[in-house]
Amino acid sequence: MKGLWNDVDAACWEGDLGQRVYTSRLLGREPSLVLHGGGNTSVKLREPDAFGTPRDVLYVKGSGWDLATIEAAGFAPVLMDHLLRLARLEQLADERMVNELATHVTRAGAPAPSVEAILHALLPHRFVDHTHADALLAVSDTADGAARVREIYGDTVVVVPYVMPGFDLARACAREFPRQAHAGTVGMVLLNHGLFSFGATARESYERMIDLVTRAEDYLRRHAPRAAANPQYRDPPDRVAVARLRRALADAAGHPVVLALEDDARAMAFARRADVAAISQQGTATPDHVIRTKRLPLLGRDVAGYVEAYRAYFERNARAAARALTMLDPAPRVVLDPEFGLGCVGRTVKDALIVRDIYRHTIGVIEDATALGGFQALPEADLFAVEYWELEQAKLARGGAARPFAGEVALVTGAASGIGRACVESLLARGAAVVALDRDAAIAGRWTRPDVLAVTCDVTDGAGLERALDAASRAFGGIDLLVLNAGMFPGGTRLAALGDDAWRQVMQVNLDSNLALLRRSHPLLALARRGGRVVVIGSKNVPAPGPGAGAYSASKAALTQLARVAALEWGADRIRVNVLHPNAVFDTGLWSDAVLADRAQQYGMSVEEYKTSNVLRVEVTSRDVAELAAEMCGALFDKVTGAQLPVDGGNDRVI
Ligand SMILES: [Zn+2]
Repeated sequence: MKGLWNDVDAACWEGDLGQRVYTSRLLGREPSLVLHGGGNTSVKLREPDAFGTPRDVLYVKGSGWDLATIEAAGFAPVLMDHLLRLARLEQLADERMVNELATHVTRAGAPAPSVEAILHALLPHRFVDHTHADALLAVSDTADGAARVREIYGDTVVVVPYVMPGFDLARACAREFPRQAHAGTVGMVLLNHGLFSFGATARESYERMIDLVTRAEDYLRRHAPRAAANPQYRDPPDRVAVARLRRALADAAGHPVVLALEDDARAMAFARRADVAAISQQGTATPDHVIRTKRLPLLGRDVAGYVEAYRAYFERNARAAARALTMLDPAPRVVLDPEFGLGCVGRTVKDALIVRDIYRHTIGVIEDATALGGFQALPEADLFAVEYWELEQAKLARGGAARPFAGEVALVTGAASGIGRACVESLLARGAAVVALDRDAAIAGRWTRPDVLAVTCDVTDGAGLERALDAASRAFGGIDLLVLNAGMFPGGTRLAALGDDAWRQVMQVNLDSNLALLRRSHPLLALARRGGRVVVIGSKNVPAPGPGAGAYSASKAALTQLARVAALEWGADRIRVNVLHPNAVFDTGLWSDAVLADRAQQYGMSVEEYKTSNVLRVEVTSRDVAELAAEMCGALFDKVTGAQLPVDGGNDRVI
């Protein structure tokens, strides 16, 4: 492993706390050291209190902070003498310990100190770094892990057998450290858990960490060389089969979920290993992953079987717990399937991607440990204790309440601008993941967030729609909501002058392509956990056609009729189909200045009059339409289908 220390960068960070922030971020930047909030660091400082009396303070990573992005404010200053007194207790319950830590910080508003604060205090070095390095885990998670660790490090590290994190671990280290440590000690290995390094300066502690990890990596290279995964051509996964699996996962979880598939060569190779059942069904690489990935992945697609086994695992282990426990949702978070590859499950895309990152590293650890002679995780009772540890559960609870469309996936056409773009925003704001289609390649850069999948696609191209739906299936596992928005509005042409080609083109874009997408989406919508929803963006021209807009008015009327038939035919599949009829929404791509002037002229009005020529004399915006479209997918409209709703400021020809 290459160290990232840089004198120029380091000089920008003032004082010991600044140096602590700097090297914490260096650790956080390397995912094979720590992932998503894992690991922790500290520095011991001497500071005067309000009366000028110096005291020792441990600045330790605050709970909820990530090493990659931590700031000085992310370290909680805890009184050292109190921590050292606590360390002398025989026992200290978790809740009590958390309270003691939180009530002995020297700065109001400091984050809750890491539950490893006492352990950091006990180590007699100024700087302490702790990671869950992949290479160390691969060596340690084997039958003869302790011996291999000794083979690599000799007596330069203290070795502590696995103990659950928290007070008991601090006690175990308090016993082992003085027994094994000497002047040449540079680190401490917690078997099946991770690695500590320490030093007099931030740089020394950081570089020792890098050196310790490098030695484990070298050992793996010598004793467990990695085979390169063979890239292989594959067809896209059967998206209805993917959606069926996603539905079963959602039913097990009790709410909609995102299923993100990773089907590159490495993930596929792992999912297809002949020994995958043996090596994947042991447990996590390090205990704190269990709250994200659960102890075991689902092998194949038997979700019901997984749930049954999880229930048995819960009951077996809950009996031994000191307090009454409530079972967490039993849905798997990781799926290994020979056709789908690695499936990552989450209530949100963010959660699914955390699962992805963690499991990708787990694959590396398992493969390396297997090559060393056999991956061996902790016994299930130890992992259960961490999975149901209230302090770990508190980390998840900080995520807050789920938004109304959390776990659901929407597909919006014509998403690069106007009403479509506004629909994407309104759906994202309600927690949905969104597949944003547009023929304009600018769609690719419109959103840079993982819960938007932008696809350049002309809706009249059937093969393009297939590719878009396959991509949606890979990224999120299916589709629950469909907003049919893409459309064209040619400039005014009276019927007498309307050519066949112009007519056909409008019909193709506004009508045929929507039928093609509806037909292809139906099996996915029918598998939506909360029932599928379709919102069709119609037009005021349906109830009140306009002169010079024959093709447009006819296409939108036919589309509306199509939607009504879909509502009839798909009601039994719990799919709701409703139509919005906007009028005079001028902040859209359809309304060039020329079209606007032309329309105004058709009605004998100025452009300004035309813009607010409705009963309420208001301008209707894309956002107004989008918010209504999103609401029509929500609980308020749960019992509404086949409806047509104008959103036009009131139109005297429609009313
Ligand atoms: Zn740890």
